[in-house]
Amino acid sequence: MHHHQLTRVSPTELRVDHPYAFPARLFATPEVTLERRAVDELLRLLDLQGTLERLSTDSRPAHIERVALTPDFHKGAGIPVGTVMQGQGFMLPQAIGNDVGCGMSLHTTGLSREALEPRLEVLESRFRHSFFQGGRDLPLTGLQREALLREGVAGLIATRPTSPQGLWRQVQLHELEQAAAHTESGGLPVRQLHGLNDWIGEAGRLSWDGQSGSLGGGNHFLELQYVHRVLDAPTAHAWGLREGQVTVMVHSGSLGIGHLAGQRAFDLAKSAYPAGLARPANGFFPLLTGEQNAAALQDVQDALNTAANFAAVNRLFLALMAKAVLQGACGEFEFPLLYDAAHNFIWREGIWQESERWLHRKGATPARGYEAMQGTPFAYTGEPVLVPGSMGASSFVLAGQGHPEALHSASHGAGRRQARGEAMHANEAEFEQFLKEFRVVTPLDWRRARADVREQKLAELKQEAPFAYKGIGPVVQTLEQAGLARPVAELRPLLTVKG
Ligand code: 5GP
Ligand code: MN
Ligand code: MN
Repeated sequence: MHHHQLTRVSPTELRVDHPYAFPARLFATPEVTLERRAVDELLRLLDLQGTLERLSTDSRPAHIERVALTPDFHKGAGIPVGTVMQGQGFMLPQAIGNDVGCGMSLHTTGLSREALEPRLEVLESRFRHSFFQGGRDLPLTGLQREALLREGVAGLIATRPTSPQGLWRQVQLHELEQAAAHTESGGLPVRQLHGLNDWIGEAGRLSWDGQSGSLGGGNHFLELQYVHRVLDAPTAHAWGLREGQVTVMVHSGSLGIGHLAGQRAFDLAKSAYPAGLARPANGFFPLLTGEQNAAALQDVQDALNTAANFAAVNRLFLALMAKAVLQGACGEFEFPLLYDAAHNFIWREGIWQESERWLHRKGATPARGYEAMQGTPFAYTGEPVLVPGSMGASSFVLAGQGHPEALHSASHGAGRRQARGEAMHANEAEFEQFLKEFRVVTPLDWRRARADVREQKLAELKQEAPFAYKGIGPVVQTLEQAGLARPVAELRPLLTVKG
């Protein structure tokens, strides 16, 4: 695509030309399809710099330092998916969307593809039952709900029941501890829970009402996969990945809780905006992070952290539910978490001291190199990067290389090719073939459903069909060639659970 605001500067990079001084780079080889409307959406966001220039003072500087766009860059709802923005002296809650803490996780298993394949028919109905037809059995007390919102997986460990019921009967303490150590944004501190009583009370009720253990709709999924090819043997070995092995990948967010958190963060930023200044024309309200806004900043962080804690714990719940189903069909096996990371979040940069530098990722995943991973299980490999393809296509596991100009980030998927709605007019024959070959577990067994209900469900599924997404090949190729992350293993799907 030719866009007058994109200039190719290398085989893997394009420069985004805009009116301000900070660099904005899009990582993509010529094979990656790019859309004009995503660039237009981005340019509108970048006018934030104008707002910051009006807001900041000499003693309180606030500006965008750098923007990086990942190869799955595409139009979103206000902010393009695949946008990473680093700034000084401000945070922009709107820059990460409403599904705060949405992320991916991957568990490896002691199961082989051969052992699983003959059981897929049985597993399909058991997954449907467990995830959608009242089979979910995840009792949580009020104390546990509060603890997991406050402290993530650590809170879950602290409040695990002494006489376990339901799913808890199958969960081992060592599994939770292992998962806590492999979760990137789990256990974020929430300091003022009492100050957030109004909405936390609401969030607590929501989790009581069945949010925990639910997948969410759209492109959220839980997928049984197998390792098709190992591409980096030493790293795969270190991570316990081997060919033919079954893996479980989860993509899920913070459901209703994240929506409340995102809304609250936006409201706080908007009310902190100086009354005397003209409202930003692009509708983006940054929150300056200096002392004058200390209270609002604390509340925003609490809101975002609560949502991220919930999302990470919920991905673990979903994976443990899958493990219980698999165990019923295949017997006991190991189920370590390789990694869990959020791709919609704001990180405070600076490990040893609290800096005023904030990193926003919207649909982009952390991909730090080994230097930044000291003190974690990934000190010799770099951070695991999970890049799902699409329903029915390959997904990849990569190792982050901490590319500074990419802001230590990578893509979190293949990216949508068509907006929802457009995929409806897709190739019917291709779609029929796909459904024949592939196992999709949905709340409704569409194979057996009434004709009109079946049509409705198929229309929904079409929005998520492989042709609605870009190819994963050029995305992974860009990550590798540009030095953002190196491919470790290719995964192929066996069965996908879709909400
Ligand atoms: P998000 O919704 O977080 O922006 O994007 C998630 C990414 O997941 C998409 O870009 C797409 O590449 C990928 N994806 C969507 N549905 C599926 C699926 O059913 N299976 C796999 N493996 N990947 C998917
Ligand atoms: Mn997501
Ligand atoms: Mn999401």
